[in-house]
Amino acid sequence: MNTELSNTNIELSIIVPVYNEEDVLPIFHQKIIDVIEPLNIHYEIIYINDGSQDKSESIILNLRKQYPEITYAKFSRNFGKEAAMTAGFKLCRGSAAIMIDVDLQDPPELIPAMLKARHNGADVVNMKRSKRNGEPWWKKTTANMFYQLIGKISEVEIPHNVGDFRLFSRRAIDAINQLSERGRFMKGLYAWVGYPQATIEYVRDERAAGNTKWPFVKLAALAWQGITAFSTAPLQIATWLGLASAGGAFIYAGYVLIKNIFITDAVQGFPTLIVVILFLGGLQLFCMGILGEYIARIYTEVKFRPVYLIETLLPASAVCSDKGLK
Ligand code: UDP
Ligand code: MG
Repeated sequence: MNTELSNTNIELSIIVPVYNEEDVLPIFHQKIIDVIEPLNIHYEIIYINDGSQDKSESIILNLRKQYPEITYAKFSRNFGKEAAMTAGFKLCRGSAAIMIDVDLQDPPELIPAMLKARHNGADVVNMKRSKRNGEPWWKKTTANMFYQLIGKISEVEIPHNVGDFRLFSRRAIDAINQLSERGRFMKGLYAWVGYPQATIEYVRDERAAGNTKWPFVKLAALAWQGITAFSTAPLQIATWLGLASAGGAFIYAGYVLIKNIFITDAVQGFPTLIVVILFLGGLQLFCMGILGEYIARIYTEVKFRPVYLIETLLPASAVCSDKGLK
């Protein structure tokens, strides 16, 4: 399969992961065109169809007849948003790229401001959610807890409340493309890249249409993926828990010894014994579980499977060739 696309003088690639988004796709496309056309730049819009089962494909293909700036890539099945974004980075040809959700929670109106920040020298423009409208309280609270936790234990600094809506310069894209790991926690990879970064705050709105594709279980899995990919702190929990329980056992042994010197009762203390055994057993299983999680990550990496498979690739047939460069 040829996924290499020829070089052009594209200034901006818009990367859009799509999973069952028939309700919102036409509105999104109109909105992005309204924002980007007046900028008078060479651009491409890359729709990555992450195995949608609804009418998303036919909608994109219809749009493509009218808008030849659309590149369409279809996965062989649903590989997840992280894989879709990875594919977008590989396929994009622009000297900068913007990652954006199709549900209009990431406002396309901010694109000019992002380009301005790029113009002022930022390689990565982070879009920070100052407020998250229309999201349930549990999502906001758990997201906050996650950012707090990962901020403390991660080996690179992962900015709080910055999602995937960002702009990347060509050298940042090339850096991300070099990261070959299979377990892809993109927010961590973006932070790992470094380079000059800028932050723009915005209010995150509700979805324009359709439902979220991230139920709690999927979000929790992504959070755990992020923690284990960017921190070895959970492995150290085992050491600390082991030390703490050994210390506790040592103190308790002293207590039992003194008690036995003054009061001799052989049978009493049986419940304590059971409690201690259960506690230590639980602790050992917990620590083994953590080790297992990291081993599972290594297992996934050594298999070296591709992150995604592309079934169909239709590159943009015209990249605004009639437009002058800004
Ligand atoms: N998405 C995807 N693959 C998935 C799940 C989601 O490509 O398996 C896309 C989805 O179409 C949307 C973006 O990722 O463009 C964000 O998804 P969603 O709005 O459901 O997430 P939320 O905003 O609720 O976190
Ligand atoms: Mg959304």
